[in-house]
Amino acid sequence: MVIIMASHATKEDVDAIVTLVGTAGGDAFVSRGVSRTIIGLVGDVAQFSSLNLRGMAGVADVMRVSTPYKLVSRENHPQRSTVRVGGVPIGPDTVTLIAGPCAVETPQQTLEAAEMAKAAGATLLRGGAYKPRTSPYAFQGLGEDGLRILADVRTATGLPIVTEVVDAHDVELVASYADMLQVGTRNAQNFALLQAVGSVGKPVMLKRGMNATIEEWLMAAEYIAQRGNLDIVLCERGIRTFETATRNTLDVSAVPVAQRLSHLPVIVDPSHSGGRRDLVLPLTRAAIGVGADGIIVDVHPHPEQALCDGPQALVDGDLVELARVMRQFPPLLGRTAAVAPEPLATI
Ligand code: PEP
Ligand code: MN
Repeated sequence: MVIIMASHATKEDVDAIVTLVGTAGGDAFVSRGVSRTIIGLVGDVAQFSSLNLRGMAGVADVMRVSTPYKLVSRENHPQRSTVRVGGVPIGPDTVTLIAGPCAVETPQQTLEAAEMAKAAGATLLRGGAYKPRTSPYAFQGLGEDGLRILADVRTATGLPIVTEVVDAHDVELVASYADMLQVGTRNAQNFALLQAVGSVGKPVMLKRGMNATIEEWLMAAEYIAQRGNLDIVLCERGIRTFETATRNTLDVSAVPVAQRLSHLPVIVDPSHSGGRRDLVLPLTRAAIGVGADGIIVDVHPHPEQALCDGPQALVDGDLVELARVMRQFPPLLGRTAAVAPEPLATI
């Protein structure tokens, strides 16, 4: 932290700050310039947070120089991390494809969607059993029955499961089925939930809050990390802007910015960003182009019958095309596509 003193500050003002910082267990280094004095504080920011430094006589400004997040910061961990989900890597060397239904509706629908995902080359299955819906009248998910369906589909396909948890009380239950826990945009700053998912020993995918700055997103990740869990994947899923043509606005700059500030992998959800099937492929190209470490998409065998987010769900042919882009594009950027090879056509 740096304190900039006003030009009229007196020696007594400066001494009072040095003494106050000392009593809080920190060190203060005074640097006297021609017109102003600057005081550099050394110690943990938390030590100084209860001091009313701004209110001290002669203080013009107080600036933080280190990041407010430590464990997820790249400053303290320059090497970018790889998170493994049921053995599948998500990290800087690969571009992983996660696909599946927005919501688990029936065993048949989930299995069909998972088979579509697997056939296209996805290596992880997504699917919501607990759906955080904007309307209380909309389908809320099957709960534990949905988790059981996902577990059966994992057995049938071998795809590890990514699924959302919306309530801190359900974390242990969801973690007993899931390979990765998802925290959605509406819960991205639900600190009790973040602490609970940080304590349960499963990898976590943390979506960006639709109104959250990148710094707020990283501080949310810090809540998970602080509980001892560094297996966190950040997911950019679009933010709220004035634009209404799309469901959300995909913030492509957030990918390289977050990767520069944090060592955690960053993936993109082009389905929830655009909210429209026709935008999923172009947004996927954009995401890979800016360096996303993975893509998570909604697929459905019959989107017109979907109980949740049908308009953005990919159908078979779209998904095959998307997987093809995911095989061809990353190698041009020096990365490996972690998409299973296209099956050989049978004659
Ligand atoms: C989802 O992935 O199913 C979902 C609800 O996403 P988001 O939290 O980004 O809206
Ligand atoms: Mn959805």
